[in-house]
Amino acid sequence: MSIKDNLLKIKSVLPEHVTLVAVSKTKPVSDLMEAYNAGQRIFGENKIQEMTEKWEQMPKDIQWHMIGHIQTNKVKFMAPYVSLIHGVDSLKLLEEINKQALKNDRIIDCLLQIHIAEEETKFGLNELELNEILSSESFKNLNNIKIVGLMGMATFTNNKNQIQKEFEQLKVVYDTKKSLSIVNCQLSILSMGMSGDYQLAIEFGSTMVRIGSSIFGGR
Ligand SMILES: *Cc1c(COP(=O)(O)O)cnc(C)c1O
Repeated sequence: MSIKDNLLKIKSVLPEHVTLVAVSKTKPVSDLMEAYNAGQRIFGENKIQEMTEKWEQMPKDIQWHMIGHIQTNKVKFMAPYVSLIHGVDSLKLLEEINKQALKNDRIIDCLLQIHIAEEETKFGLNELELNEILSSESFKNLNNIKIVGLMGMATFTNNKNQIQKEFEQLKVVYDTKKSLSIVNCQLSILSMGMSGDYQLAIEFGSTMVRIGSSIFGGR
């Protein structure tokens, strides 16, 4: 099947309230343009340099989402254009995003990444760390970032029960924080679900899925 066919097939099964991020990391601009020409406007990348090269070459009505782990010293390269940063997991990183957003005279939307997987290697905050950030004095002064939701990645496993448990856990955290009313933290996005588990993620409350290989093929 073509990229266009894959994309339209996935879109046809997504509920209206669920946003599709087409994860295009490692894929050439020609592949992204195929998705673009089929109507896709939101792309997810996991390396700032690669995303910036693609941003330079591609139409300017695309929304670029950074979904990977972020090195503080590279935030400046995406600050002029990035539309949503999914993987924020420290106050230090938020402070740098805020600083670069201010330089560009904009407010950058961010998701805080919550650690839900079993693996040690996956990044993210636990609930205690999340609470520490949200209640800290310095967070309140970050006027050029806005926390608009949470993001999580389930364990890489075939065990559906395990994945389900992790999604449920993230949904609980999301629901408890959704009622917060802090100027720079108003949650409306729950980013969870990839090619292998997005249907399950949607069942458990996902509002944004990040799908790569099911659209563009294996990497
Ligand atoms: C690569 C990646 C995806 C997409 O994975 P697929 O299995 O190809 O759909 C989603 N989220 C993150 C954070 C990724 O790095």
